[in-house]
Amino acid sequence: MSDTNHLIRYSVITEKNPREIVLLRGNGCKWRRCSFCDYHLDFNLNPKLNYQLNAKVLAKVTGQFKRLEVINSGSFSDLDQDTMNLIKKLCIGKGITTLYFECHWMDRLHIAAAREAFGALGIRLEIKGGVETFDRKYRESVLCKGIDTDDPKEIAEYYDQICLLFGITGQTQDSMERDLEIGLTYFKRVCVNLMSKNSTAITPDKEVLSSFMSTLYPRYKGNPRVDILVSNTDFGVGGTDE
Ligand code: SF4
Repeated sequence: MSDTNHLIRYSVITEKNPREIVLLRGNGCKWRRCSFCDYHLDFNLNPKLNYQLNAKVLAKVTGQFKRLEVINSGSFSDLDQDTMNLIKKLCIGKGITTLYFECHWMDRLHIAAAREAFGALGIRLEIKGGVETFDRKYRESVLCKGIDTDDPKEIAEYYDQICLLFGITGQTQDSMERDLEIGLTYFKRVCVNLMSKNSTAITPDKEVLSSFMSTLYPRYKGNPRVDILVSNTDFGVGGTDE
């Protein structure tokens, strides 16, 4: 993700949990160490420029499903205050009653206050977190994710939904199945991302991907609580309009 100027930032998801989705821009992920990620390059330190961009993207939201997912590299707490205020105004104006935000583990202590602030306006906040795998050793030594617990119950105290990342060397059919089952046990929804080639040194492992596609994908693709992004732009945002 070397050029973030032409990213597609608005889309509509019509399957499973129908919702509108926006890719906004904040002042950037404060973790930035995940070995597989170049998404953190989508940031700007100027809050005015971020707000200008975010306001244009949010102007496309219609409220048609009463659900809106807001993603940005890092956590919702990396968005500027004017953007947060606009999101609140938009939800009220368009009748959006469920809002999905992303949050890194290091920012989890911001979640309770945000739930309260949105809840007071009649907006239910659901928080998504990128766990990638529940195998702590693999997660921290290979993926450098920065989540210092191996207890899914502790993660579920903060998060409603989790994202898993599959298709990397060292993962197996068993490890991926275990991650999916733990995810479905402790969380409302699970979003599986399959590793695609990007500018990092982590590359997709064809054998792991093919094992997932031939065994687990057919079993989980119809599960209404599981989203599977075979390509990381399957939600319609994050690709380029060039
Ligand atoms: S927390 Fe998210 S945005 Fe930040 S480096 Fe990790 S995957 Fe990338």
